[in-house]
Amino acid sequence: MKRYSAFAIARQALSYHKGWGRAWRSPEPRHKYKVVIVGAGGHGLATAYYLGKNFGITDVAIVEKGWLGGGNTGRNTTIIRSNYLQDPSAAIYEKARGLYETLSQDLNMNVMFSPRGVLMLAQTEHEVRGYKRTAQANAFQGVETEYIGPERVKELLPIINISGPRYPVLGALWQKRGGTARHDAVAWAYARACSEMGMDIIQNCRVTGVDQSGGQVTGVQTTRGAIGCEKLAIVVAGHSGDLAAMAGFRLPMESVALQALVSEPIKPCLDVVVMANTVHGYMSQSDKGEMVIGGGTDGFNNYTQRGSFHHIEETVRALIETFPMVSRLKMLRQWGGIVDVTGDRSPIISTTPLGGCFINGGWGTGGFKSIPGSGWAMAELVAKGEPGPLAAEFGLDRFTQGRFIDESVAAGVAH
Ligand SMILES: Cc1cc2nc3c(=O)[nH]c(=O)nc-3n(C[C@H](O)[C@H](O)[C@H](O)COP(=O)(O)OP(=O)(O)OC[C@H]3O[C@@H](n4cnc5c(N)ncnc54)[C@H](O)[C@@H]3O)c2cc1C
Repeated sequence: MKRYSAFAIARQALSYHKGWGRAWRSPEPRHKYKVVIVGAGGHGLATAYYLGKNFGITDVAIVEKGWLGGGNTGRNTTIIRSNYLQDPSAAIYEKARGLYETLSQDLNMNVMFSPRGVLMLAQTEHEVRGYKRTAQANAFQGVETEYIGPERVKELLPIINISGPRYPVLGALWQKRGGTARHDAVAWAYARACSEMGMDIIQNCRVTGVDQSGGQVTGVQTTRGAIGCEKLAIVVAGHSGDLAAMAGFRLPMESVALQALVSEPIKPCLDVVVMANTVHGYMSQSDKGEMVIGGGTDGFNNYTQRGSFHHIEETVRALIETFPMVSRLKMLRQWGGIVDVTGDRSPIISTTPLGGCFINGGWGTGGFKSIPGSGWAMAELVAKGEPGPLAAEFGLDRFTQGRFIDESVAAGVAH
């Protein structure tokens, strides 16, 4: 595989860029692998990458029913932050945020990490208290955040109306090293690095059954034949329940559509990410100039991977009071993804009742930001058979022991 560099681009320019090879191979599945990972989203690919990088395990297949990155990883609004309240969450999200800082260099592909800063607006007294508490917790956790007043918010975000009639802006939680990255590039960069390590990424291959013998996983049935394995990692976000059913256990998780939309491109006017949890909307401006706008989840469980009209109306209406300029924009595209939501709004990185089978899911509306940290922790779990420090608190057993990691406030509007 060719290394990407400024020199390589210059060299290729001389031959009209005809010399680039494919970024990853598309092999036929073999009969058996040491590890099979179901789901080539960011989390599945990152798990594979850190299995190879941190543990030298490269006899790995990543099996994907569609195209890699075509699930939530390619559908999200790309917000990256780590200002969570509870210690285990802050630890894994901050690990991920830290890995994002050098991910482009690590994977030799530009994932366009842009630490432009994330503002979470406080528009009620309740939110003021909540964010001050989070800022305090973050200080103890070593996560750099700050509670700021409305004047500083206005400085950072000139397009905001801080004296809205219903919900004036009272302050904000500010994480200056939060930001965004290019979602497709994150999936592609991990895929390329995995392929280079000799792993097989098998697209258009749906897993239809999980084989087991004596309480131990032995492989999977797929639309491209049976594939044997010693270990199985289920990393399929909104389809976690389906795969768990195939493996013979149930999950405390619901699948629901989350929607987003983008406006027509306009001149640069917003250089931070802003989340307004009270009015329920969040926004950033892409490099192309589009306003990337996220809304909430559907109010009912479903597998409908598309947008719906009332969400556009609700989300845009909510944003207009705080950002009046939004009323002048035309909306261009809208879409949905199926997210996997747990009761405490925290993920599951866990062993399962089936031996050799592990699950990573429940990232819900906010798992893009965690991809590198989640992959790091999941790789350790799969390699060693037991969780390391990052994943220790996220086991399925917390639901039977009542040991919840309540992030329903930090999960906020959606992320
Ligand atoms: C509209 C929207 C906005 C969002 N915004 C943000 C945000 O701003 N910040 C943030 O941090 N997070 C955000 N998220 C959440 C984030 O996108 C997800 O948490 C994250 O992408 C999950 O990654 P994943 O790899 O677990 O899942 P996915 O990317 O969905 O990958 C799972 C893969 O499994 C495959 N699969 C499923 N079933 C099978 C099967 N039977 N056989 C084989 N393959 C299968 C799917 O095709 C899919 O490709 C958002 C999500 C949505 C939908």
